[in-house]
Amino acid sequence: MMSEYIAGVDIGGTKIIATIADVTGIKSRVYQQTRLHGDNFTIPKQVYALIQLAAENAQIQYDEIKSVGVSTCSPFLRNGIYKEIVAPNLCGGLTNSGRLPNDWQSIALEEFLCNLYSHVIVENDCVASVVAEKLFGAGKFIDNLVYVTWSTGIGAGIYADGKLIRGKNGNAPHFGHIFIAEDGPQCGCGNYGDLEALSSGSAIARDYNVSSAKIVFDDYRHGNEKAIAIIKRAARNFARGLASLNAMVDTEYISLGGSVMNDSDILLPMIHEEFYKSFQVLSHNVIIEKSALFQYIADIAALALVMPASWIEQWRTYSPWLESPKMIKLD
Ligand SMILES: [Zn+2]
Repeated sequence: MMSEYIAGVDIGGTKIIATIADVTGIKSRVYQQTRLHGDNFTIPKQVYALIQLAAENAQIQYDEIKSVGVSTCSPFLRNGIYKEIVAPNLCGGLTNSGRLPNDWQSIALEEFLCNLYSHVIVENDCVASVVAEKLFGAGKFIDNLVYVTWSTGIGAGIYADGKLIRGKNGNAPHFGHIFIAEDGPQCGCGNYGDLEALSSGSAIARDYNVSSAKIVFDDYRHGNEKAIAIIKRAARNFARGLASLNAMVDTEYISLGGSVMNDSDILLPMIHEEFYKSFQVLSHNVIIEKSALFQYIADIAALALVMPASWIEQWRTYSPWLESPKMIKLD
């Protein structure tokens, strides 16, 4: 019998990772900086090349890959049946900032891949992550689950009543862009005073006038009063965002990931305090924890989108993501 392989592709503003897996685990992982020059098929072509390289590296025939899951920064717009990526950190044509070396308005990745593979799923990275949580993390036995990433940006994925929430263009929920303050700093999306503008890792760094939120957390640990005030305010706004999200979807469990949660020992008590102060009938029995899959979730999110149902039990039993092969880094 021919082996069955799937590919997962994780697309961010700075890097793309292609992963090949079979029922026993991850076979190969290839990493390359996101190509942002050229025409707007640059990224689709790069994705295709990286899947080929990952397959070669896993010593499998390229045509043995039938399914491709893509976990990407977004949002999306719909062009006929296909979603196109219209992410401001990939498509230079969406803003006139001159920050990116291209003038792309959108990236037709889904259509491109559907012409090459028989099964393709493209989702927002947080939506893909909540699928991984549902299969292999906190969501295994519950039907109402939220995954939230707190990183340079803020995003979320939701299962409600056992159903993955996508929305008309696959953009539900763009959690970082809910309004929190009447005015306030501007977000990369253009909003003023939304959650990402107030609480993201970038916002924490901006408020402290440094390049990385990590520096603010280090100074917090040394008792710096300004760092403490900034982090407390960010955590309070973040927790109020979670309370708003819970008010809408009445969830059971909120799993937190993302680089800012590396300092979860500082943040979780603050989040809990503020969250459980909100309307208690709704908030009191919601569990909020750091994701048990924390450092692995990006590795398996894209794969989870297309993983055959017959693999799930074996993956749950052996947690093969714990023993992924070393990442191959390309120029
Ligand atoms: Zn925003």
